[in-house]
Amino acid sequence: MPGKPVNTATKNERKLNFWERLYLPEVLKGLGWSIRKIWKEPSYTFQYPEEQWYPSDNYRGRPVLVQEEGKTRCVSCNLCARACPPMAISMESREIDGPKEREPVWFEIDMLRCIYCGFCEEVCPEEAIVMSKEYDLTFQDREEAIFGLDRLLVPKERLADRLAFLRKQQNPQFGSTWEYPRENNRHSLRDLTTDAESIQTEQ
Ligand code: SF4
Ligand code: SF4
Repeated sequence: MPGKPVNTATKNERKLNFWERLYLPEVLKGLGWSIRKIWKEPSYTFQYPEEQWYPSDNYRGRPVLVQEEGKTRCVSCNLCARACPPMAISMESREIDGPKEREPVWFEIDMLRCIYCGFCEEVCPEEAIVMSKEYDLTFQDREEAIFGLDRLLVPKERLADRLAFLRKQQNPQFGSTWEYPRENNRHSLRDLTTDAESIQTEQ
């Protein structure tokens, strides 16, 4: 049994006049309209890559690690890796002498997985990972998309805009200073255990 034809005319369809049914006059009319607009409208397009686009400070480009005095600020706490939704971050930590105590042996971000959400930047206690303004990433293969410390580390002077923006956004809420509630700032099981012990002692 033959099925229902797919392209049946609907009840509300407008009837085309003779010229419209000829098809070509309508195409020429459309082209004429486009050509008129080319000269009248201002240009919104960039001649990329000759012309570059400079995003504002709140733009989230590829995540980078902040380099300070030739070293990474990162203390290899793994928080960013835990917060990263597509699990794009991995690292190996080692203990070192000095106030930092830990640093990454290696640190990698898979840029094919990264969704530029900025969660890593938000959770980092050291302001060691920030969202840069770089948006034009190209790769030849999957291995090339995995950025190590050599490509992630960026001197803090080059990230001054973003670091200043983050500092401006921290804490001031609607014009007043925000008291950071301690219960929101638990980063480890150790904090939870300490809290539980202190509650028991108080009781
Ligand atoms: S921006 Fe988001 S997806 Fe990309 S590395 Fe950071 S947390 Fe992961
Ligand atoms: S959260 Fe910050 S300090 Fe911790 S591992 Fe990530 S980049 Fe390093």
